[in-house]
Amino acid sequence: METCVFCKIGRGEIPSSKVYEDENVLAFLDISPIKKGHTLVIPKEHHETITDVPDILLQEVIVAVKSIAMAVMRATGAGGINLILSMHDVAGQTVPHAHFHIIPRHEGDGLKHWPQGKYEESERDEYVEKIRNALDSDGGDGRTEQ
Ligand code: 5GP
Ligand code: ZN
Repeated sequence: METCVFCKIGRGEIPSSKVYEDENVLAFLDISPIKKGHTLVIPKEHHETITDVPDILLQEVIVAVKSIAMAVMRATGAGGINLILSMHDVAGQTVPHAHFHIIPRHEGDGLKHWPQGKYEESERDEYVEKIRNALDSDGGDGRTEQ
């Protein structure tokens, strides 16, 4: 049995503030909210990252994210939402169970986006080529078996 914290939440072994639950998907408040109403949406089944989640399940998760995001907006009076998903340690993933963050945003709430950089002309082509090649070597669509 998985010992991960979100699996424990899914099984009810750790309490959580649930906002939505169905057979395969669960949503609950983040314990340390970036903004009040910050909600996490997970597949109940344990998968470390989004790329491990079978497509059919991922579809259910993203459709739930869509309606929960709209509900969080209505509930908090937010003017917008940031949808965040961190994949692997280096990207800041701290809980190795795939999850989307829904973060309500208000005008002047003080959160800043990441700084953005620039490409040299040749670099842009280089990155396009690398990414296209990586897609080709993946069969082109990255889809997983159902
Ligand atoms: P990550 O950094 O992996 O993208 O996000 C993990 C999130 O899970 C963090 O924002 C953290 O606050 C939240 N979190 C970690 N442990 C718990 C917990 O036991 N309960 C709840 N509700 N959230 C948690
Ligand atoms: Zn898990």
